[in-house]
Amino acid sequence: MTNQEYRIAVFAGDGVGPEIMNEAIKVLTTLADKKNIRISLKDGLIGGSAYDAFGTPFPDQSLNLALESDAVLLGAVGGPKWEGLDYSVRPERALLGLREKLGLYANLRPVVVFDELVDASPLKKNLVQGIDIMILRELTGDVYFGKPRGVSKDKDGLRTGINTMIYNEEEIRRIAVRAFELARARRKSLLSVDKANVLESTELWRSVVTETGRDYPDIELKHMYVDNCAMQLVRNPSQFDVIVTTNLFGDILSDEAAMLTGSIGMLPSASLGETSALYEPIHGSAPDIAGKNIANPLATILSVALMLRHSFNMPQEASWVEKAVADVLKEGWRTQDIYSAGTKLTGTEEMGTAVVRQLVSRIF
Ligand code: NAD
Repeated sequence: MTNQEYRIAVFAGDGVGPEIMNEAIKVLTTLADKKNIRISLKDGLIGGSAYDAFGTPFPDQSLNLALESDAVLLGAVGGPKWEGLDYSVRPERALLGLREKLGLYANLRPVVVFDELVDASPLKKNLVQGIDIMILRELTGDVYFGKPRGVSKDKDGLRTGINTMIYNEEEIRRIAVRAFELARARRKSLLSVDKANVLESTELWRSVVTETGRDYPDIELKHMYVDNCAMQLVRNPSQFDVIVTTNLFGDILSDEAAMLTGSIGMLPSASLGETSALYEPIHGSAPDIAGKNIANPLATILSVALMLRHSFNMPQEASWVEKAVADVLKEGWRTQDIYSAGTKLTGTEEMGTAVVRQLVSRIF
């Protein structure tokens, strides 16, 4: 192990954020202690809690903390308390700010169905057993950032809303390269999803992904229209390995794919740029269950595993954390969202402690 120090910015956020983050940090610090990994953890405010303290959901000191770190670990932001605020200062704006300022253009969402949770899926067991899909969503382009945008009114009072679906070839090439590299480290199969039959920006997407593929002759590249992909994800999800797609399509497809696993509380994510990276569970701040010690911390704990793998190049340590999570599920422990008859109901804190216990036994 090198003597390098890994600097991690920790934004627990709002709602269940602080509770799930406590458990993720417990796992991370245990690993660091046992394996002599030097980490420095610095807390920052973001989202509603930052708005309350500074009048903005994304204060400069939080941006600077993120920029000075090797990785950012985030809980979740938002909640009813801030819903009446102007859009420009809503907690969720902080997420867009982070993505934009850190240049986080590649969003990875692993969709893995743990054997023990196969019955939690709304799909039939035989369709979801063994599912292991990696969705790579482009995160800084497309309609969310394209200009012109907005709502205008003409002289007769008719309102028109406009957003612009736009990609240039460099934006497409850099995400395509990430996708081919990911596919190379997995089962060597890549599906690019677009709507090239009717949308020119995604016609370019298809061309550039195909051109990029010439540098990866070992990877099997296929293309699929987004509407067909949405259907296939439910019809036969096991056909997929790595899926790369645009920001808008990825937003929708990754939520659809998340449901294959049965609980939003299980799914981690990574958002990668050239020099920065952000790791967070895919769920929101779950205000309905905040402060009750019932939120599932496993998505955040699995986000720590992604951080170890993608930011710190520690695949062994990442897989220890993932296996510790699987072991706890095998023992039968469940938070409320994944509970079923015959399993053992436990709380947020106790679930984190159980993962720590399994992790320690795996390390030694
Ligand atoms: P949500 O993901 O917070 O909750 C949806 C449902 O899933 C709720 O019933 C919740 O109790 C449950 N849930 C979520 N996480 C869970 C966990 N770890 N364990 C157990 N159950 C869990 O989505 P929402 O209710 O639409 O949004 C709540 C707030 O979160 C809103 O303000 C929204 O804008 C914000 N939000 C933030 C992010 C983020 O920070 N990345 C993402 C989505 C939504």
